[in-house]
Formats: sequence, structure tokens, C-alpha cells
Amino acid sequence: MQNIETPYYLCDESLLENNLKILDDVQKRSGAKIIVALKGFAMFATFALVSKYLKGCSASGLYEAHLAKEEFLKYNSEAEVHTYSPAFKESEIEAIAKISSHIVFNSPNQLNKFLLKTKEINPKILVSLRINPEVSSSPKDIYNPCGLYSRLGTTLSNIDKESLNRIDGLNFHALCEQNVDALEEVLLAFERDFGIYFKNLKYINFGGGHHITKKGYDIDRLVCIIKDFSLKYQIDVYLEPGEAVGWETGYLVSSVLDVFENGMNVAILDTSAEAHMPDTLAMPYRAEVRGAGVSGEKKYTYRLGGNTCLAGDIMGDYSFDEPLKIGDTIIFEDQIHYTFVKNTTFNGIKLPSLVIKRLDGTVEIVKEFGYEAYKSRLS
Ligand SMILES: *Cc1c(COP(=O)(O)O)cnc(C)c1O
Repeated sequence: MQNIETPYYLCDESLLENNLKILDDVQKRSGAKIIVALKGFAMFATFALVSKYLKGCSASGLYEAHLAKEEFLKYNSEAEVHTYSPAFKESEIEAIAKISSHIVFNSPNQLNKFLLKTKEINPKILVSLRINPEVSSSPKDIYNPCGLYSRLGTTLSNIDKESLNRIDGLNFHALCEQNVDALEEVLLAFERDFGIYFKNLKYINFGGGHHITKKGYDIDRLVCIIKDFSLKYQIDVYLEPGEAVGWETGYLVSSVLDVFENGMNVAILDTSAEAHMPDTLAMPYRAEVRGAGVSGEKKYTYRLGGNTCLAGDIMGDYSFDEPLKIGDTIIFEDQIHYTFVKNTTFNGIKLPSLVIKRLDGTVEIVKEFGYEAYKSRLS
């Protein structure tokens, strides 16, 4: 990989396949169907592989649904496209209805507005309402769909019983990077408040945020819960993880551009926390650097920062066994999910290339970005 110009994200398909096998094991043992949430992982050059295991895509609107149709259904024409938006637009609903096998409305308002039209365009489409179960132990407000005054999903008091007779399923999404105990807590409230409506439904979608592929996730318990739920209500269960698909499947490779001292050692990299690793600032969390320790753990500590003019464009303080030199490679671990689906060209910084290490070991640069990627969005 020495000759690939930094910065680049590298997704390793053998690691991705490990995750897909874990998810497939959940499908096989529990009977649930798992679809990938494109919001978190949408590297479609891997979809030949992903579509061997997962049953389709969860799309957050027209463009993600379109991507699912173009790039996932070509490998499996039976694959499902479940499309949800906080609010659908009049101008897009026809196209969305055509592409989607399942549509999820956020409110009774939206359902009443678009249901007839949606079914007219796609008589086979299955319709769901997103519920806000009003219980979540999501670690951060920015990622808590059940927080105060949430706009995501319908609460019990906003349920209109008429619309419940017209739908095929219910969705909830209330977790973020959580284990199965958090799901159990949500399910308890969901069943308590909405269980009486399950009778005529075909499916319940448990959303995403299940950290199934993380070490320590209690997979046996998840399987057990899904099986019990399906049996009890005679209903199909879906999961739609994004993060768990791309979890620890690759990294972001950058180079040291400059090193100096200003009260502490500072290194400037040819990447950016703000533009290329946005969740590290939004969550925030500290990305691991290969071979590095926390501040002071190893002999030489540096503050690693990005190549933009934002003062806070800082990855953090890391320590190394040897002093950093200009040209050294710095590898940020686990930078495949929620990175290039949301990176930017802020400050005119070059977008990292997209690289895939295929199952047979070959390394393929699938995309490089130049000046046009920056300019094309500005005028
Ligand atoms: C974000 C989101 C997901 C995926 O969440 P992960 O945390 O990436 O698993 C699934 N469903 C909905 C409705 C979402 O908004």
C-alpha cells in the first residue's frame, strides 16, 4: 500500500465479511431479516459481498433508496428497500414509492397525506409507521431519537387508531452503539404501549444501533429475544444496523506534513478530524491510532491536528515510541462507518481516496477525488 497517495480510507473486505457472517448467524438463528442502513455504510463497491448476506437496505430518502436500487438490487433483485424520512416531499413521493418495497412514515399526518398515492403507484408496497417508544438509554443527546421534543417517530399520545388499521408494520429506532440490555428496555416499553396493535401486523422493525459485531455483544440473548418476540406475536422482525456492518472494517491512512513545538509537540496531518472523521468531533470520541498510546504513555507525545484552518480540528494527543518525522504514516483505526458517508471538502481540503482490500488480497483504489469534487458544490 506504500504507493497509494494519502489520505485514503481502506475497507478490508475480509473484515467486512466477518461482520456479515456474524449478522447472518443472527438472521439464521433468530429468523429476523437484517438490512444495512445506508446512512452509516454505503460503500457500494462492496455490495456484491454485502448482498450475499443481508436482505436489503434501509434508506433515509430518495437518494439512498435510489442507490439501493442501482447498486444493491443488481446483485439480488429480491432485496428489500425500506425507505423512511422524517418527512417525505410531495415532489419525491412517487419516485420513492416506485423504488421501495417498504415505506415508513414518521407521523399519522404523513401517512394520511401519502398512503393512497404510495399504494396507487406501488400496490405491493408494505407500509409502516415509525413509533417513538419514549425510552432510550442512548449515550448522547445528538444521537438520541427519543429525547425531549423529538421529531423522530410517533408517540403514544399522537397515535391515531384509524391509521393503525391501514398499515403492515411498525418501526422504532432508539439505540446507538448499544448492547442487548438497551434493546430489552426499549422493547418492554414498546410492547407495553403498542402491543395491542400488533395483531394485524406483518412485521416490526427494531431499527439500528445494535452493536452486534462489537466484541462482548450478547448475541445469544439477542437471538433469544427476537425468537420469543416473533413467536409471541406471530410477526416478522427486522433489524437495520449501519454501524455494526462497517464496524472495525478498515482505517484512514494519513501522512505527517509538519512537526513543531508550541508548549507541546504538534503534528499536522494531510487529513482532518472536522472534514474526514466528523463523528470524532460530533460524538465526540477518540479514534485509535495504530501503534500509538494515550498522552504520556509512550516516550514521545504529539497533538495530532488536521490540515484545515479550524482551530479545533484536532484528533487528540497520542504518544509514540519514536519521534514523528515528516512523511510518517498515521493510521486512524475504524474509520469506515459514518466517515465518507458524511465527509466534506471544508476549507478546500482534498477528500480521501476510497480503497478496498478485496477478499483475494488485491488492493483496489475505487475512487479518487480532485478539485472538481470541491468546486462542483459551490456554484
Ligand atoms: C441511523 C439509523 C439506523 C442505523 O443506526 P446504526 O447506529 O448505524 O446502527 C437505522 N435506522 C434508522 C431509522 C436510523 O436513523
